[in-house]
Amino acid sequence: MTLDIPTLYVVSVVTNIALTMAVMAVALGQSIPGMKQLAWGLVANCGYYLMAGARDTLPPLLTIGVGNMLGSLTLTLVLLAVLSARRSQLAPAYHVLPVVMMLFVSALLLDERAPRLVIASFILCYQIALILWVLTRPGNLIVGRGRIIMAITLAVGMSAMAYRGLSLTFGWHEVSQFQSRDPLNTYFYLTNYLGMFFLAFGFVLKTVEQSAEFNRRIALEDPLTGLANRRAIFDSMDKLFSIAESAGQSLSLMIIDIDYFKQVNDRYGHQVGDAVLQQVAAVIQQRLRCNDIVGRIGGEEFLAVLPLTPIAGAVNVAEELRRTLESQPVIVDGHEITVTISIGLYSTERLVSSHSPDSMIATADEALYRAKAKGRNRVEIADMPEAVSP
Ligand code: GH3
Ligand code: MG
Ligand code: MG
Repeated sequence: MTLDIPTLYVVSVVTNIALTMAVMAVALGQSIPGMKQLAWGLVANCGYYLMAGARDTLPPLLTIGVGNMLGSLTLTLVLLAVLSARRSQLAPAYHVLPVVMMLFVSALLLDERAPRLVIASFILCYQIALILWVLTRPGNLIVGRGRIIMAITLAVGMSAMAYRGLSLTFGWHEVSQFQSRDPLNTYFYLTNYLGMFFLAFGFVLKTVEQSAEFNRRIALEDPLTGLANRRAIFDSMDKLFSIAESAGQSLSLMIIDIDYFKQVNDRYGHQVGDAVLQQVAAVIQQRLRCNDIVGRIGGEEFLAVLPLTPIAGAVNVAEELRRTLESQPVIVDGHEITVTISIGLYSTERLVSSHSPDSMIATADEALYRAKAKGRNRVEIADMPEAVSP
């Protein structure tokens, strides 16, 4: 398939300018890592197109040399955008060198179109491969559909550049004239046109996905301990309750409160207190099974819900937690701090509709008060109302 290249060129220029303005509008509004680099990348790409359009009017050193350099700079800026979004860095040689080489080679081969295109294709191929590599490396902060769109776009772009370089090296295609209507030019302009569009779209989509995920996390997560916050644990509890109720399954619930925690703060300071809270939360989470849920419902108070767990199993877990904390002092800033907990436990063999989450929590809370009154560092089992064993 071949397309009319001047028409494709004009469409590309107009779309790129529109895309640049759209991305600039997003980038200027808020500080999104990588967005500014992406916007400047699109500006460089517009510059590349403008130079290509001025071939009949400006000297070749500008239109070919600087023009090709702007094409390469576009990819460097996309690479910097991806690096910034994943909060990592690369030695400048990786991204500066290709731009310098592109300028040098293009300026040197102004009258040698074929070798110039071959070398330019391989430089661009390398640059796209590098972006793809950074984008798909493990431990990436860039996730979701945005990343997939970007990765596919880069893979297609990389193949297109490799194919152009190889086809000119091995003579699979005639060396195309500038803006002539032939498969190679069609291929190149279409790839560039669609490539920049999908790259920018993928980047914006990944930003939207990332901020949605961030908002979801801050809405549901306790920032100090990383456990579910009060709202999240109550939401999850409602779901677990309806499953257990419809299947008539056993379920246990524990309220865990650190003993004399105020003294920890008073003696070691609030920051040490925070670190103690984090470590206690980690111990609780480690001991629970993956189907159990746990959250921080107050300052030094946690709620754990254990589905499919009758009383014997729940007492075991609670006692083990209590003993673990009692026997392993928490170490913060060189201080060995022994922390004990009191637990109010509510358990039912068969959950029925008369068990409301609120009433079960209130009853477990009463048990917790008894544990405190009886001297702390103990597990107290809540009085089971009649409804517990129908
Ligand atoms: P009890 O054995 O009766 O539970 O005594 P307590 O001192 O643990 O209970 P109290 O309710 O008197 O005090 C709870 C303390 O927990 C008071 C508050 O300073 C502390 N606290 C609550 N939230 C946080 C927090 O996020 N970080 C820190 N460091 N301390 C907190
Ligand atoms: Mg306490
Ligand atoms: Mg408390």
